Amino acid sequence: MSPPLTPAETIAYRGAGGAIYLNITNRCSNDCAFCLRAWTDGVYGDVLTLTREPEPHEVTQAVELEFIDGPADEVVFCGFGEPTMRLDVVLAVTEWLRLRRIPARLDTNGHGQLLNPDVDVPAALAAAGLGAVTVSLNAADPESYDRICRPLFGKAYRAVIQFAEQCVQHDIQTTLTAVDFPGADLAGCEAIATAVGAAFRARGLATPRGHDQAEKREEA
Ligand code: SF4
Repeated sequence: MSPPLTPAETIAYRGAGGAIYLNITNRCSNDCAFCLRAWTDGVYGDVLTLTREPEPHEVTQAVELEFIDGPADEVVFCGFGEPTMRLDVVLAVTEWLRLRRIPARLDTNGHGQLLNPDVDVPAALAAAGLGAVTVSLNAADPESYDRICRPLFGKAYRAVIQFAEQCVQHDIQTTLTAVDFPGADLAGCEAIATAVGAAFRARGLATPRGHDQAEKREEA
């Protein structure tokens, strides 16, 4: 049996806009130049660094406890890592949410298919009941992407766009995002989002100094 997480470790937490956010892993296939993990262990007092990854039942239990505190518009897989590193947990918890008619969203770096090559990931997410996905694009060309996001995979950029395209094709509400990083081509990122049929949103750059004003989450 797994040792218990300490009370300070956060699986579920509240973000801006009435959502509950889930922190299911600290692993990630990117090493973004702007990642909060480089300079903090959490956000707004919620510790998001984990001594171990929570089991699915611990995640659903954490969601239930959050709902005791009040309603939420949606539950978002997000946290201090890439959720599709644990695709099985994302799918199981999404199913659990769907059975309770709770909307689920995935915030992702878009590497899901690279990380899980034996699964048709967008199809599996749609089948589990995922309603929305936010894919972190951050660059309008592969060279800039590799420089800003420093992916473990070669040719990750094309895979991110393809992942978004396939989510659109499976009727998952899809948004591409880009952090307003120095030199970021936000207009170019928006044009790519439009081309794949997705929405686009620019995100503010969180810095140690601006941490208190940052969104209450680290989006993948
Ligand atoms: S994808 Fe998200 S968690 Fe991963 S390095 Fe980038 S900002 Fe950090």
